[in-house]
Amino acid sequence: MKETVVIIGGGLSALACAEKLVERYNVIILERDGVLGGLAKSFFYKGKWIPITFRHIMSIDKTTLHFIEKYGLEDALLWKDVNIAFWFDNECYPLTKPQHIFKFKPFGIVDKVRLMKLGLYCYLKADWSDLKDVKADEWLEEFVGENITNTLFNILAEVKFGTLSSVSIEWFGSRLHETSVNREKYSYLTVGVQELIRAISDYIKRRGGEILLNAEVTRIKDNNVEFVCNNEKIVVKADKIISSVPPELLVNISDLPINVKNELKEIKYRSAISMVVGSKQLISDQYWNVFMRPRFSFGGIFNHTVLYPEGGVDGEYVYYFFTYLDETDDFYGLPENEIRDKYIEDVKAICPNFEALWTKLTKIRYASPFYSFKYKNPPIKILNDTYLIGIYREHPATRTMNSALLSGQKTAEFILREAD
Ligand SMILES: Cc1cc2nc3c(=O)[nH]c(=O)nc-3n(C[C@H](O)[C@H](O)[C@H](O)COP(=O)(O)OP(=O)(O)OC[C@H]3O[C@@H](n4cnc5c(N)ncnc54)[C@H](O)[C@@H]3O)c2cc1C
Repeated sequence: MKETVVIIGGGLSALACAEKLVERYNVIILERDGVLGGLAKSFFYKGKWIPITFRHIMSIDKTTLHFIEKYGLEDALLWKDVNIAFWFDNECYPLTKPQHIFKFKPFGIVDKVRLMKLGLYCYLKADWSDLKDVKADEWLEEFVGENITNTLFNILAEVKFGTLSSVSIEWFGSRLHETSVNREKYSYLTVGVQELIRAISDYIKRRGGEILLNAEVTRIKDNNVEFVCNNEKIVVKADKIISSVPPELLVNISDLPINVKNELKEIKYRSAISMVVGSKQLISDQYWNVFMRPRFSFGGIFNHTVLYPEGGVDGEYVYYFFTYLDETDDFYGLPENEIRDKYIEDVKAICPNFEALWTKLTKIRYASPFYSFKYKNPPIKILNDTYLIGIYREHPATRTMNSALLSGQKTAEFILREAD
C-alpha cells in the first residue's frame, strides 16, 4: 500500500515535486485556484492563453529548459536577443552589451569605465557567498562610487524590491552575475507556459496522481489536511505533507510548533501589480524598460511583442506594466480600474497617443519573498512528516520558474532518499 503525500498548492514547485514522487507515493495536489500554475498561470482571452505576468526563460534557466525538453516542447521556444533599457528624462538607453555603456549619456567617462569594470567583475564572479555579510549599497559604493550607486542601482532596487541597504551583496551580486552571463539571451515558450503545466500535470495524472482545483486547504492538524472544494469540507489523512504556499499562509492554517512558526513568520513577501495591455501604439522597441527618472506609477514595462511577435490576439502589441510594492502601500489598495487609469495616464508621458485595446490587471499579494540582509532559507523538513518547497527556499537564486521547479525536485529527492 502506497503512502499518501498531500501537496498544498499547484504552482510549478508542486508539479515538479509531484512528478518525481508519483511513482512511489499516492500523490494528491490541492490547489485553491481554478487553474494550475500559481504565479506562472495564464488566462484565456480570444482563443489564446496569455500569462498574467511577463514570462521569459533565460539561457541560464537549466531546470526550466530541462522540463521543456522532457515534455517535447523545445521546438516551441523562440530565442531572441533582447535588451534591458533604462529610461532617463524620457530617453531610452539600452544597457545590456558592453558597447551600450559608451552610449549611456547619464554617465560621464569615469563612470562608464567603472561600469565596464563592474560588468566584467560580475561576469567572472559566480559565487558571492563570501560576501553574505556585506550590504549591497556599501559594496557598490566602494566598487563603482556614489553616482552609479545612487543613479542606477538604488533606483533599480526601488523598482524591483525595496532598498539596496536592506539586501546583501551576496544576493544582489548573484543577480548581476546571472544577468551578465545570460546577457541578451531570452526566450518565450510560444505554446504558452500553460502547455508545459498541462504536460506535467497529465504525466502526474497518468501515473495515478490526483490534482484537485478549487480546493483550498483551510487547516492541517495531526496530519489531517482539511480543504474546501465546491463548498464541501473534506479531510484527507496524509502520511507526508508538502507545502508550496508562502510560509505566512502555512503558519495560519497549521498546528506547527511555535518555534517553527516563528521561523517561518520571518519570511516576508513583496506584492506586485501586473497589467497586461494590448495596444496598437509602440511605447518602446526594447523588451525590458525600467523607468528611472522621472518615476511613474509603474516601475517598468515589458514589450512582450519584442520577445514574441505573435503575442497579441489581433496583431497588436502586448505590454506588461508592473509595480513591485508592499501590500500596505496605498497604490496597492486602490480599486483595479483606478490603477489601470493611472498606468495609462502615466504612460502617455512617453507615448502621448497611447490607447489600450484591452487590459487584464492582477494584484499579486505574494509576488516574491523579500530576500532581506542575512535571509536564511528555511529547511526542507520542518517537522516529522512536513516538508517545504517553493522559491522562498532558493536564496540566493532569483525567484524564477527555474528556482521553483528546482526546489520541487530537491525536496522530492530528499524524501525519496529518506525512504530508501
Ligand atoms: C510579476 C512576476 C513576474 C515573473 N516573471 C517571471 C519570468 O519572466 N520568468 C520566470 O522564470 N519567472 C518569473 N516569475 C517567477 C515565477 O513565476 C515564480 O517563481 C514561480 O512560478 C513560483 O512557483 P511556486 O510553486 O514556488 O509558487 P506559487 O506559484 O506561488 O504556487 C503556490 C500555489 O499555492 C496555492 N495556494 C496558496 N494557498 C493555498 C491554500 N490554502 N490551499 C491550496 N492552494 C493554495 C496558490 O494558489 C499557488 O498556486 C515572475 C513572478 C512575478 C511575481
